[in-house]
Amino acid sequence: MVVARIEFHAVARRFPLPGGGASAALDDASFQIESGAWVTLAGPSGCGKTTVLRLIAGLEEPDAGEIRINGRSMRGTPPHERGVAMMFQEAALHPHMSIRDNLAFGLQARKIPHGEIERRIASMTARLELGPWLNRFPEELSGGQKQRVALARALLRQPSILLLDEPLSNLDAPSRLTLRRELQRLHAGSGTTLVYVTHDQTEAMSLGEQIILMEIGKVRQNAKPLELYNHPADLFVARFFGTPPMNILTGELRGQGEGLSFHPDTIENPDEGTATLSSPPAVESPLFLHGLKSGGLKLPMQVSCGFRPEDAAVESTTEATTPSNHWRLPCRTSAIENLGREIWVHAQHKGQPIVVPASNTPLPEPGQTFQLLIPPAKTHWFQKGSVLTIDSYCQ
Ligand code: ATP
Repeated sequence: MVVARIEFHAVARRFPLPGGGASAALDDASFQIESGAWVTLAGPSGCGKTTVLRLIAGLEEPDAGEIRINGRSMRGTPPHERGVAMMFQEAALHPHMSIRDNLAFGLQARKIPHGEIERRIASMTARLELGPWLNRFPEELSGGQKQRVALARALLRQPSILLLDEPLSNLDAPSRLTLRRELQRLHAGSGTTLVYVTHDQTEAMSLGEQIILMEIGKVRQNAKPLELYNHPADLFVARFFGTPPMNILTGELRGQGEGLSFHPDTIENPDEGTATLSSPPAVESPLFLHGLKSGGLKLPMQVSCGFRPEDAAVESTTEATTPSNHWRLPCRTSAIENLGREIWVHAQHKGQPIVVPASNTPLPEPGQTFQLLIPPAKTHWFQKGSVLTIDSYCQ
């Protein structure tokens, strides 16, 4: 097997629009995928994930930028010379061949010896539990079964680069879980560079070592799963991962003596009471304050404050102790969502929606007010959608 490192350098792919002009399916995309890695391409429908796979496979050519595999530019290199196997979202099996013949076909075309083909098919059949279907034809299988066969066929080729486009989307939840684990076992130690496309954030978080998260043709963040979760680069990334997603309060950052204070916006004006949250720690560093003093940063400024539902708590009405360093945000309950294992409190602060877990009893009733406890160290700060970092203001 040949090692395969993939590089995108400012790659763009545009498609003509019916009324004239062009839309960018991929815009200025730059990233690297190390040889043998498992990288997950994630993002909402239409963000350009399949386009990235088609560009790697050579089914599309970039309109700008360069794609390199093992340092060599792929411009003009036909698909069959790229060492790539791609499994499409729709399992494209040959309708007039049995499942066994579908599996063997690509290997025969590559002149693999008969005994080796038999050995590989037997091993893959056992691992992906294809046994009962080998003598059937594709039309006699369900969508999920066909997807399993297509996955097996792609894996059997033992390619340098394997591109999987939502390979488990037609499967039921338990089969998806089993196959994910099997796929991870098959990939481990195989040396294959695997690019896996999904729009499912849970699948993206649970698979692979690197996630490239995209939105409307743009790479938003390229990082390890927990890095994306704990240090999102912008509001889109912050809201994409997590169920329920991160709470976002918009508001104003103002100077307060030597420090700062955050004042959430009023969207509606119910009588929950106001909150002034002092000195957000993420923006409290000496360098940030230096930026303020040097005039590089103008206050007041509009910002968004994010915190994950699981990091906040409804203040207990029965226990006297409240951690003294936590912010207390007055909220009004709008609904209780009971999912059995989890109970979520949907609430509002001055009209801004918030979701937090119900951690204690009694549960706040709809219409009731309560204090929300937020540990300041768990807050995330964004300005105009991008993460608020000291670097933006300090040279
Ligand atoms: P999904 O998750 O729904 O499969 P995706 O993230 O894979 O979506 P792409 O299929 O890469 O998205 O499409 C990206 C954008 O490019 C979309 O807006 C799509 O409509 C557009 N697009 C893709 N292929 C073509 C084409 N051949 N002609 C015109 N527009 C196209």
